[in-house]
Amino acid sequence: MNRPARALSQGFWTCLGCRLLVKAPEKRNTLSCLCPRCGARMHGRVEGSIMLTWALTITGALLLIPANILPVMTVIYLGAGEPSTIVGGTLELYQNGLWGIALIVFVASVAVPVMKLVGLVILCLIVQWRLDVAPRQAMRIYRVVNAIGRWSLLDLFMISILVALVDMGAIAEVAAGAGSTAFATVVVVTMFAVRAFDPRLIWDIYEEKMAAVDSKARDEERE
Ligand SMILES: [Zn+2]
Repeated sequence: MNRPARALSQGFWTCLGCRLLVKAPEKRNTLSCLCPRCGARMHGRVEGSIMLTWALTITGALLLIPANILPVMTVIYLGAGEPSTIVGGTLELYQNGLWGIALIVFVASVAVPVMKLVGLVILCLIVQWRLDVAPRQAMRIYRVVNAIGRWSLLDLFMISILVALVDMGAIAEVAAGAGSTAFATVVVVTMFAVRAFDPRLIWDIYEEKMAAVDSKARDEERE
């Protein structure tokens, strides 16, 4: 059967920074080297990738609790207002007619981090339990998780826009609360979690499964 070979089994490493293919260091037990083109640290496979991804994902999930329970901001509209959580604040913005901003805040603060954490858990389960998921499907999840990561800082960006709007219009006043620290930590932790996950592991499992299928076929031929 003709399957594209993995770089690793051909004695090559790929730089995850710039995708340069480099001959693996000759010394055995060398776990990493620097990319000659972009200077990023390269590994044949990222060491402890799954454990680190798990740890950061669980940390992120736990931090979502204070991020949602503690007040994130106080929107003072026409002189009145109480500290509110992300969900409460979104509702408040919506009720004050700022529904566009409410939508962006909701997507950036609730939908994106939750989707990201769920995606990471699925990826870890696929690799750790060798679930029967087509590698292309798994890669699709990885790409989505990776892509939405770029929108994580949208929320902090929104808070700055909100503050700017408030300064100009003076219809409302916004102050940041303790929950926003927890929220910012969730953003940072999930960013590292995505970086810790080594997508090449998906193809290693695929290769192993296919090798098992091949040897089984060979055995049957012999019989
Ligand atoms: Zn590189």
